[in-house]
Amino acid sequence: MTDSERAARSLYDILRQERAKGFDDSAVIGGLDAFLKRASSELGAVLDDIPTYGTLTPAERSDWADRAVEKIRERLSRNGRAPARSESAARPPKSEPSAKPRPRRRAPRAPLKMSDPVSAVKGVWKKNLSRLEKIGVTTVGDLVHLFPTRHNDFSSIRTVAELLPGDNQTAILTVWEASETMLGRQRSTQAVLGDETGNIRAVWFNNPWLASQLKSGAKVMLSGKVNVFMGSPVFQGPEYEILDGSDQAIHTGRLAPVYPSTQGLSQRVLRTIVKRALDLCLDQLGEFVPEGVLHRNGLIGRRHAVRQMHYPDDWDAFRAARRRLAFDELFLLQLSVVRRRLEWKERGGAVPLSFDPSALGSFLDSLPFELTEAQLQSARDVLTDVASDSAMNRLLQGDVGSGKTVVAVVAILAAVHSGRQAAFMAPTEVLAEQHYLTVCGLLGADMSDLSGGNIQRIEVAGLDRPLVIALLLGGHRKRAKDDLHSLMSAGMIDVVIGTHALIQDAVDIPNLALAVVDEQHRFGVLQRAALRGKGERPHVLAMSATPIPRSLALALHGDLDVSVIDQMPPGRRAIRTRFVDEERRAAAYAFVRKEVEAGRQAFVVCPLIDESEVIQTKAAQEEYRRLSTDVFPDLGVDLLHGRMSLQEKQRVMDGFKEGGTDILVSTPVVEVGIDVPNATVMLIDGAERFGLSQLHQFRGRVGRGKHQSYCLLLSESPGTEAMKRLKLLERISDGFSLAEEDLKLRGPGDYLGTRQSGIPPLLVAQITDQDILSMAHRESRRLLSQDPDLSRDEHRPLAQAFEQHWERSITEVS
Ligand code: ADP
Ligand code: MG
Repeated sequence: MTDSERAARSLYDILRQERAKGFDDSAVIGGLDAFLKRASSELGAVLDDIPTYGTLTPAERSDWADRAVEKIRERLSRNGRAPARSESAARPPKSEPSAKPRPRRRAPRAPLKMSDPVSAVKGVWKKNLSRLEKIGVTTVGDLVHLFPTRHNDFSSIRTVAELLPGDNQTAILTVWEASETMLGRQRSTQAVLGDETGNIRAVWFNNPWLASQLKSGAKVMLSGKVNVFMGSPVFQGPEYEILDGSDQAIHTGRLAPVYPSTQGLSQRVLRTIVKRALDLCLDQLGEFVPEGVLHRNGLIGRRHAVRQMHYPDDWDAFRAARRRLAFDELFLLQLSVVRRRLEWKERGGAVPLSFDPSALGSFLDSLPFELTEAQLQSARDVLTDVASDSAMNRLLQGDVGSGKTVVAVVAILAAVHSGRQAAFMAPTEVLAEQHYLTVCGLLGADMSDLSGGNIQRIEVAGLDRPLVIALLLGGHRKRAKDDLHSLMSAGMIDVVIGTHALIQDAVDIPNLALAVVDEQHRFGVLQRAALRGKGERPHVLAMSATPIPRSLALALHGDLDVSVIDQMPPGRRAIRTRFVDEERRAAAYAFVRKEVEAGRQAFVVCPLIDESEVIQTKAAQEEYRRLSTDVFPDLGVDLLHGRMSLQEKQRVMDGFKEGGTDILVSTPVVEVGIDVPNATVMLIDGAERFGLSQLHQFRGRVGRGKHQSYCLLLSESPGTEAMKRLKLLERISDGFSLAEEDLKLRGPGDYLGTRQSGIPPLLVAQITDQDILSMAHRESRRLLSQDPDLSRDEHRPLAQAFEQHWERSITEVS
């Protein structure tokens, strides 16, 4: 088609519309004259008169249009391009939105493999390689598995007359004219397009080269939103597709994928190359889930699922695809988790531990409180587990202050009564120290005499010799550590409490039958395994105060049994929590003073300044000086920091416990594990620096007596994220709900993407996919009960996929 013919063809369509609208000069935005003027030289070759259309009456316009249309038909028919009289711009069917198929010669398909570098795909330019790498794409297979983050629903195809501002929608249009234009300071493209119901303008900012692509008369499909600009509708930066019949639409007129991207990598490029990768190698994607599993659960085939995940026919198809691919991820995860669990259960070889009921009774009687029903149930769970010769693998969950430690002590005593050793690992030195003190206390040690330092002997009811308990920290002197090591390997230590120092090579715990891991999520899988490896097959009790939702617990710890302490010791009251901004600091101090005057006590946690304990201690000393001399000169203020010796700490804590101290200032590293029912205020300075669970931990230090307690979150300039956390704390007092909210706030990435968890990140599945997760769990159990090693022929592809999947994650972990 020549330029003249193309212009004539456009005019033809415009005039048809003018006729439909009664020649009111509305078919072209801005009036037909603008078009006639611009196209005058091209049209001059076809028409002999071009009037000033705007000045004509409708009747005159009609006359002229009749003549013009006839001329155009004549001219175009010479080349066999005359529009049929009855032709209407009917909408092509949705599945093949192309106008007329025009066969295009294609290069023969290069045989591409999934493992080929992505540069092998046509259209992947060199400059895009590093950008692709940024989003994790280096091979062709990565492109195939680059799943969209969402889809734009452009499946609603409308005529111009039907377009509505604000909706995502698609129109199939003819280009009347397109030109480069300046919009603001940007060279851009502007086009006028239309169908039989009207015309519309489209603009593309900063995209001048598109003007030359949009030839007058060409059929295009535009998808996007329409705005009204000075009374006329305008497509602003729509996705577009030129319909020349050669390809399937991928940008418009359908559910169009939106990929995770990065600066400089346009969606258009991504769609194009992903589509090529799919066309070239999807056939190579094998099925690995056994037929029966697919069938039972109504899952679609893998190849189909991958294609539909990118280019779904409709939302139902997308859901089916997503369900299948999410299943794959969770199935591989559950296979591993269930397999570990089965092996663990069946292998036996653990030492059964028993706790004589009368000895247990006298221990419980010796406690200053009665266990809650939830604690008792957890203790029963634990004792049942350890009585077996298959090793316990139990997670004990309970909010801060719910009383997990005493349950651990029950397990520890079971080990000691059975003549075995127990180890208790905590994530920080301070926590280890505190556990050491707490456990000594619970076992009935005389806490006023800690002369034994890191090794204590404690008389325990029902045991014919003193129980020996030791504290092992990395920071201890080498001499002390060496001594402890040799005592342990000689079996002279019954219970050892410590940090990572416990899992060092030099540490030998020959009779280890129980390993307790506190705050287990703060250790990596390998560290937990290392502790476990210290004994033959020790029972393991993992504890966590960072409650994870049940769905997540199943995903992460399908290999663990879980006990939950979902009940607080009696008499605890909800703590009133308030955010206090810097301007009201004085008011916060006044509040502390008021409580102290009423006979209560308060904690003040210093702002987190630096990870270094030296600097932190200095800051705390400074804060202590300020508070004790400037703010509360008349009150009893004391200081606790991480660099004090164990005895010093004990002295300070005792002073507070006995009421000699009104206000205890402490560094944040001291997660004060003391129980002071008379303390009613927890003032956390610089609260924005702490995470949700740590703030919740601090808060758990008050509210343990009969008085109403308060937590003041002092913060100078919380950012939006921090403010969200502080607001959550104000609103929610229960740790489990807090964790659920936190999960929503931060997404599961923090739990799942982490190296810590030792599982590959989920790309499609979400932890909230409870149904798919249970399905995967059920099918894994079923499969492994029939073929524990996946060694059957029909399971070979599955075994392979399984290995590949986990190989990837192991390299990520180590
Ligand atoms: P966490 O679960 O946070 O580790 P702890 O084991 O440190 O909790 O217990 C918190 C406090 O509650 C401790 O001071 C402990 O002595 C006390 N405690 C534990 N169980 C009970 C109970 N049943 N009744 C009263 N106080 C309890
Ligand atoms: Mg604890």
